Amino acid sequence: MKTAAQLREELRSIDHKSYPAYKSLKGEYRFTDYVLSIDHVQGDPFAAPSHVTVRFPMEKAGFPADYYKDRLSRTSLADYLLRQFGNAVAKLSFQARGSGKSGLIAVSRCGQEILDRSACCVTEKEICVRFSVGFPARGRTIDAKELDKILFELLPKGIPAAFLFQNQQKERLQAHMELREDQAALRMFLRENHLAAFVADGAVLPRESGVSAKPMKNAVVFKSPETLRVTAELPHKGKISGMGIPCGVTLIVGGGYHGKSTLLLALQNGVYDHIAGDGREYVVTDETALKLRAEDGRFIKDVDISLFINHLPNGKDTKCFCTEDASGSTSQAAGIVEGAEAGSRLFLLDEDTSAANFMVRDAFMQRVIAPEKEPITPFLERVRGLYEQAGISTILVAGSSGAFFHVADTVIQMDAYQPKDITEEVRGLCGEYPLADTAAARTGREKAVEAGIMAAASSHKRVMTKHEESKTRRNYYGDTVARPERMKTKVHGRDGFSLGHEEVDLKALEQLCDSEQTAALAYLLKMAYEGMIDRKKTLPEIVEILADRLAKEGTAVFREGGYVAGGFAIPRVQEIYGCFNRYRRP
Ligand code: ADP
Ligand code: MG
Repeated sequence: MKTAAQLREELRSIDHKSYPAYKSLKGEYRFTDYVLSIDHVQGDPFAAPSHVTVRFPMEKAGFPADYYKDRLSRTSLADYLLRQFGNAVAKLSFQARGSGKSGLIAVSRCGQEILDRSACCVTEKEICVRFSVGFPARGRTIDAKELDKILFELLPKGIPAAFLFQNQQKERLQAHMELREDQAALRMFLRENHLAAFVADGAVLPRESGVSAKPMKNAVVFKSPETLRVTAELPHKGKISGMGIPCGVTLIVGGGYHGKSTLLLALQNGVYDHIAGDGREYVVTDETALKLRAEDGRFIKDVDISLFINHLPNGKDTKCFCTEDASGSTSQAAGIVEGAEAGSRLFLLDEDTSAANFMVRDAFMQRVIAPEKEPITPFLERVRGLYEQAGISTILVAGSSGAFFHVADTVIQMDAYQPKDITEEVRGLCGEYPLADTAAARTGREKAVEAGIMAAASSHKRVMTKHEESKTRRNYYGDTVARPERMKTKVHGRDGFSLGHEEVDLKALEQLCDSEQTAALAYLLKMAYEGMIDRKKTLPEIVEILADRLAKEGTAVFREGGYVAGGFAIPRVQEIYGCFNRYRRP
């Protein structure tokens, strides 16, 4: 490994040369406190900035061993340090100047959730931070003096500030670490107590605005109804009380604008841990929970949706359903079957974003349209079976149809942003408003059918396919040789990406919370495309292999061109399934 002095020397020697001469700086350099690695050098001052990694030995950083004893604490510490470094970097960026992106120093920006990001990793050995630097130029010639300023003046100031234990606000850091352990304990509490979700008393659920995930100021704070209140004992915070939503079928009702969707949104985000001050620190949901919505136009491939849809007028097979352009109801049916396959134990639905004909069909409509003319068995008739046969709970926001009262275990009314438990009240009324022919009246035989379908759906062979690009090319001598299967990806923010010529639209995966997760999904799909799709492996097999690797190797999976770059955050396995299922393939 070269020394920092050698880097300085090399830098001096390329001053005023044309920009590509910067490429000679690629490599690792030993500084007093850390190793700096120049992994990738941008092609010109206007291109995406260069990639730099700093490795700070843990021994020197001096954090207590307790802060990196396991995966949970390591990701907590990494998240904290990344936020610190982000603050430091904001002050240093563009202090060096020049054309284009000269002088830019940028690192991943963290939101309200704590994610495992490639931008910062903590191991027993070291803290590793990956960021971008715009190598300075005047016009298109190298400005070595300015890069010297970044590497030998600005970073040596910012890095120790962010990564030395002695420079941290100890109490804040300690609180950050403890909160995460409490959140893990609360998730354990859910499992042990057969709860689908927990919302603490005092939680703040609404957000500042549609574009800000910060908590709303002066919001009505959450207070659990007496009958649903449970108390957990957390290792650091001690006793905490709040609303426990039991597994089963839960209905959230209430007048328009009373806070139903806000509660559901908090629950769907409760699969992630939130930072202190967010208001949702102690709002946790079963981490396999899946928000489902109607998604007209989506792609569906080989999904057995016969649980919900049969006898389509065009004669299409719904046991192995494919479409390039799903309807609201078929998209939602597929979403449920795919969700079960992805291991979800909880579905979250909002009537507002669901296909009406998928959810219920009232008695009058059943009279008018004969059963054999209606391909759809509405969700209303399957929701109990999903729980009883497959162990999958549902939390559903319903504003217009009372039919779901008949199948709910728990009914929560949002009343001026406060929850009320109206389960008993509703139970009394169910007799007055009987349902004609529904899940409530279904026979044992139908239940068996349901169980069978559910088992079939999960064992269904869905071999993963891909578009075959031309596999060969002509070389210089005119011979046909194999073309390496490399595909380009381009990420379009949080909402999707392209792989080769295919666009993958992920707008409907509402629980994706960061564009770095989308970048990771693009990476994983490309990885599958290039090396795993072999006309034998099924889609679940491929996803499980990838999920396994992520669990074992963490963000080290995101390696490209011999190094790991910043800019990736590990998604949940549910979103990996969601993404692979939406990839349009032959
Ligand atoms: P619903 O789904 O019942 O129609 P929403 O959840 O969309 O209602 O909430 C309506 C409005 O009330 C939203 O603008 C939301 O930000 C606001 N709101 C939700 N919960 C609270 C709260 N606890 N305190 C203050 N305002 C809230
Ligand atoms: Mg709503």
